[in-house]
Amino acid sequence: MDTVAAIATPPGTGGLSVIRISGPDAIRRAAEIFRPASGRDVCTMSGYTCAYGHILRDGEILDDCVLTVFRAPHSYTGEDTAELSCHGGRYLTEQVLRVVLCDTVVPAPPGEFTKRAFLNGKLSLTQAEAVQDLIAAQGEASLRCARDLREGATFRRIRALSDTLLTVLSDLAVWADYPDEDIPGVDGGALGRRLEALTQEMQALLATYDSGRILREGLRCTVVGRPNVGKSTLFNVLAGSDRSIVTDIAGTTRDVIEEQIRVGSVTLTLSDTAGVRETQDPVERLGVERSRKALQKADLVLCVLDAPPASLPDLDPSRTIVVLNKSDHVHIPEIPGFRCIRTCAATGEGCDALANLIEDFAARLAPASDEGMIANERQRECLVRALDAVREGADALALGLAYDAVTVSLDGACQALLELSGERVTDRVVDTVFSRFCVGK
Ligand code: GDP
Repeated sequence: MDTVAAIATPPGTGGLSVIRISGPDAIRRAAEIFRPASGRDVCTMSGYTCAYGHILRDGEILDDCVLTVFRAPHSYTGEDTAELSCHGGRYLTEQVLRVVLCDTVVPAPPGEFTKRAFLNGKLSLTQAEAVQDLIAAQGEASLRCARDLREGATFRRIRALSDTLLTVLSDLAVWADYPDEDIPGVDGGALGRRLEALTQEMQALLATYDSGRILREGLRCTVVGRPNVGKSTLFNVLAGSDRSIVTDIAGTTRDVIEEQIRVGSVTLTLSDTAGVRETQDPVERLGVERSRKALQKADLVLCVLDAPPASLPDLDPSRTIVVLNKSDHVHIPEIPGFRCIRTCAATGEGCDALANLIEDFAARLAPASDEGMIANERQRECLVRALDAVREGADALALGLAYDAVTVSLDGACQALLELSGERVTDRVVDTVFSRFCVGK
């Protein structure tokens, strides 16, 4: 295994930058380029110890910095690792990295450190993927979710599934291998019930992909209502910035404008629409069409009214909040069957209560992240494959086919689960997963 190095901190100016070196040659290389102020020998430093000193370039001091030594296997990658914390700043950091690189220390490709952690058994593949999510986390909720996954919640849940499958498979194998022995036969009914329970558990895990999207990407919230009811004003109050056009001329919010805002611990992907209504204006009609699509995709619809409606568009009460706006001006009776809230967007009155309602709504939709969830398309695809294979096995059983057929299907399911957890993956899958990472992680 090569020794690799990269700048682990983001590019740009900051107080500190960290250059990470990992691999068999890491500490020897650190000893060559770093001179501790105490005069101690870097090669004899034990794991989890630091030394203050200088980075040398051609015998001259380039920067003063702190070296931290980690000894295999007690490091992030599981290999010997040296981390140099030098002064921040793009130019200086790049110069330090340049000094570190040599014949035996090469630049680390994206995700290389986490990939090594995975290959050295420090992390499961789903945990490694959660590291990427941690870096990308936008708000408190998605951060909590990534942290829980990083602790291995998903891995444990997949393990439980594959353990059950392996038990079933071994029962089938014993029965098939020793047909003449005095072993109780496989009970088809009990096997069917076990596969049914397994299917349900897999479906529940699969469902977390959809609900987990709210944590990963935020709640998709569409604002609808007739022109001039105050949608843009409300949107601006919620967003805390003047983004969409607010005007007295009806129909000026012609397109769907998307904006991500944070409401408490929830990230909202708000789209402001032209409103769902009939129109002759072709530009506006385009907007109306997009509005309909946004409405279908929405997790939550905010329907804004400034007068009692003659009729409401086709809205699902379970994911709609009706906002009775301009409460300073008019008193609109509540709409039966819908959750209603009174606001005055012009002064902001009622907007905090609306924000609380939205937060409650998101909390009900999002899964409990400490139970593990499916976090990306790769994981989802593996689980769907495993689920299909278990169903195929259950069908074979129900049709009275030979247990061999059931075994083949369940074997397939097991393979898919091992691929999901990363216990059995091809190099190509591993490379694809880690190519999404940034350099230095
Ligand atoms: P949109 O077409 O639905 O986006 O409506 P706008 O946000 O552009 O608002 C239309 C007009 O109503 C603007 O003049 C706003 O200042 C005004 N408006 C918005 N909310 C309120 C409110 O709560 N009370 C009153 N009196 N006027 C409001």
